[in-house]
Amino acid sequence: MDGRDSRETVGSPELGQTLHDFAAELYPLCRSITGEGVRNTFRLIQKRISLEMCEVPSGTQVFDWAVPLEWNVLDAYIKNRAGARIVDFKANNLHLMSYSTPIQKRMKLEELKPHLFTLPDHPEWIPYRTSYYQENWGFCLSHNDFVRLIDEEYDVVIDSTLQPGSLTYGESYLPGETADEILISCHVCHPSLCNDNLSGIVVAVMLAQAMALRQRRYSYRFLFIPGTIGSITWLARNEHIVSRIKHGLVLTGVGDAGGITYKRSRQGQAEIDRAMVHVLKHSGEAHHVINFFPYGYDERQYCSPGFDLPVGCFMRTPHSEYPEYHSSADNLDFVKADSLARSYTRCLEVLDLLECNRTYLNQNPKCEPQLGRRGLYRAIAGQQDKQLKELVLLWVLNLSDGHHTVLDIAERAEVPFRRVHTAVEALLSVGLLTECGGASNA
Ligand code: ZN
Repeated sequence: MDGRDSRETVGSPELGQTLHDFAAELYPLCRSITGEGVRNTFRLIQKRISLEMCEVPSGTQVFDWAVPLEWNVLDAYIKNRAGARIVDFKANNLHLMSYSTPIQKRMKLEELKPHLFTLPDHPEWIPYRTSYYQENWGFCLSHNDFVRLIDEEYDVVIDSTLQPGSLTYGESYLPGETADEILISCHVCHPSLCNDNLSGIVVAVMLAQAMALRQRRYSYRFLFIPGTIGSITWLARNEHIVSRIKHGLVLTGVGDAGGITYKRSRQGQAEIDRAMVHVLKHSGEAHHVINFFPYGYDERQYCSPGFDLPVGCFMRTPHSEYPEYHSSADNLDFVKADSLARSYTRCLEVLDLLECNRTYLNQNPKCEPQLGRRGLYRAIAGQQDKQLKELVLLWVLNLSDGHHTVLDIAERAEVPFRRVHTAVEALLSVGLLTECGGASNA
């Protein structure tokens, strides 16, 4: 932790714009749980961080699931009798239901209708629909366009392939001083949807860029995976190293204008949960902390009882609470540069906290040491909040008995972690503290 007040950078317009620009670059790609859209997404990520693309063949058994067939699409449309494309995948990839099987057929409106999806409550928006595990085809369109369809014949074309291939996930690993890992996971399986999918991706990429430049106690693993089947696949292939994961976050929906929501891990009081709650409490930002429940994003798999990993979910407005969710209204306007920047900064603060959350031993435990003699009072004298700084020094000395981490002290003293950490550094510099044990976190 470098001691700077991260609030200075939280609202940085450049940071937010960089994140938003990257989301805009990824936005047009037609992603799904498999296929070229995901690979092309990874190719753009690879321009920013080192990322390994892992291919897992269709049919591979992963716990109770099997890796599905690979889906790709070249074109899809509905043409009216006048020859106009009235629904066109090339205009917006949400128009095609993901995993639609190929078709080329002229049909009456009556036959077509069961394959059309709209949102009557939001008649201008295009819904997002998938049919991964049941072969089907469909188109999504605004309800306004739907009600304008006249009773005539339509040419329906879906030029897609659904055949054996592979599931692709991306993995970026940054080794640290220890093999203990921090996992950051986000889903990459949605087409042109911005908060759901892209916001998590761009924040994760920027966190990977930041951590690559830092001295790291922990090793870091950034996973870019298709939702559900991706985390199941990764866990099935990496069961032997899962015990290295000491802390983890699923990032999703981190770009809307709402306040932050943190969903605790199944463990509830894991270090990641306490670290996040602490950072949010002292952030001055509106936030809400909720307990784990077995629905939502990939934390469902990481927190399944056979793994029970300390992985929480960091988001803003929960998906069930904003109507734009899974529709064309979850677009680049819905996601705010400022929200992306703030989400990034909070996550980075949590990573900094975890890196610095160590346990120390007071070298002068019998009564208080004389701080003035060691220059610590003088160092404090010119500063505004002298009393609080003194009190933090005394808290650190009092609780550095080998049994309390810096976070324990920050919680007990009710002061931000970074202030406690600054006091720790001051006391280390005069030899009043030593670090307990190795770098590894018990
Ligand atoms: Zn979604």
